[in-house]
Amino acid sequence: MKVVVIGGGPAGCAAAYILKKNGHEVRLFEATDCVGGRTKQLKRDGFSLATGALFLMGGIYPRTSALLREMGRYQELVPWGGAAQLADKDNARYPVSFVSLPSYLRIPVLSLGDKFRVAMAGIRLLLSPGVKNPFNGSELSAFDKGENLEDWSRKHLGDRAYEYIMRPLMDFLYAVPASWLSTPFPLAIIQQAHKMQLSVPPGGVGQVSEWFIQGSPGVQVHLSSRVERVERNGKAYTVFAKGESYEADGLVIATEAFVAADLLKQLIPADAAQKLLKTPYTDYAHVAIGYQKNPWPDFPADLVLPVGVREVRKVGAIVLHSRRHPSSVPKGGEVAGVYFNTPPLATMSDDDIKRDALAAVAQSFGSAPPPSFVHLFRYDRGLTIAGPGHYGTLDSVHKEMPKGVYLAGDYFSQAGVEAAVFSGERAALMLHNSRG
Ligand SMILES: Cc1cc2nc3c(=O)[nH]c(=O)nc-3n(C[C@H](O)[C@H](O)[C@H](O)COP(=O)(O)OP(=O)(O)OC[C@H]3O[C@@H](n4cnc5c(N)ncnc54)[C@H](O)[C@@H]3O)c2cc1C
Repeated sequence: MKVVVIGGGPAGCAAAYILKKNGHEVRLFEATDCVGGRTKQLKRDGFSLATGALFLMGGIYPRTSALLREMGRYQELVPWGGAAQLADKDNARYPVSFVSLPSYLRIPVLSLGDKFRVAMAGIRLLLSPGVKNPFNGSELSAFDKGENLEDWSRKHLGDRAYEYIMRPLMDFLYAVPASWLSTPFPLAIIQQAHKMQLSVPPGGVGQVSEWFIQGSPGVQVHLSSRVERVERNGKAYTVFAKGESYEADGLVIATEAFVAADLLKQLIPADAAQKLLKTPYTDYAHVAIGYQKNPWPDFPADLVLPVGVREVRKVGAIVLHSRRHPSSVPKGGEVAGVYFNTPPLATMSDDDIKRDALAAVAQSFGSAPPPSFVHLFRYDRGLTIAGPGHYGTLDSVHKEMPKGVYLAGDYFSQAGVEAAVFSGERAALMLHNSRG
């Protein structure tokens, strides 16, 4: 079968890999000049800056891990311990491991009662049925009771544990208030938290997409080739990009949801296009502050997570990138990455963001000489997020697709490489099975 994959992020590259492995003739179109989407790196002054994704999550990312193993790449991943400090509003520090939930129970601001409540909530969660695969939208929708994560946390963990455990984790992972998030995905991740290990490919998370393409010899990759439109052509499809047209028996559309809505608007019912168009992508900003000579070589943690009861916090996390991804900085250098929460961005100019980023770095790690550069990454659509009702709404869109067209993208679950890879593999296998 002749197949076109549209979009070269981890979802599209995983789909191309699976389709090629199953013997199909595959073309992949990517609008920008490289694959990787929101996981790619930017080279600047000898530094390799993460434009988006920072890490993979080990056993929490089973399909990504399995496919990396299959391609012989898994052993190349560089582990990251994620030693963190929670920084209270008086700048008191509490050391925790970002990946070990029990480590948060050691922090002194939590009373014995708080700790007991968290432990009981954890045990109840572990014993409850819960979602087995947090990347499968239909399973997630079955567990979506319409409750948001803040309400769940305050009820089951208590206010202080919400502020000192759940909120800092969600600020770093999704940069939005927990009240914007549905419960099934994060609770399923907590149920599986013992499988979490952070790691980074040596070339940054974007290398996962490159590995999929390298592992699929014969896939024709068209870079800098934005697909402008798709037409139905009897039982087949015609894809238009850069003034050329290409015939395909099947399509995997692995772009952002709003792009898929636009490409498919003539081919799917209006309400399905509306569901795709309304998929929430949030504003996002982070700042990379680069130093040729590391001002804090002995700092005892890899990242700092601001905390404080009912504090409105502009910054969700400050990360020392040489610890996370050693080959991202020149020898002896450092990049401090400052990750902003979404709500305050609405009133912040680019200069405000850079100024606040420099202040957050000084507050977190101590003063430093002027940096070599301050690089702002600002997106009006950065992360997909899933509020109550999201999974069911999006899952229903699969049924509205014309024969031979399958959607992939992280937006069916919750932003993350595994959500993208799972969806890409699923779309590819459904297309393969549909026509043999
Ligand atoms: C700041 C930030 C930090 C993150 N941190 C992490 C993290 O630490 N760990 C993690 O797992 N995830 C993280 N993520 C999320 C992760 O990057 C995404 O979940 C993942 O990239 C989604 O993959 P995707 O293939 O669905 O979409 P994308 O990566 O967005 O890829 C879609 C691709 O489609 C292309 N495209 C769009 N329109 C067209 C068109 N018309 N024709 C051809 N191509 C087109 C785009 O150029 C893009 O390359 C982060 C994201 C951001 C923004």
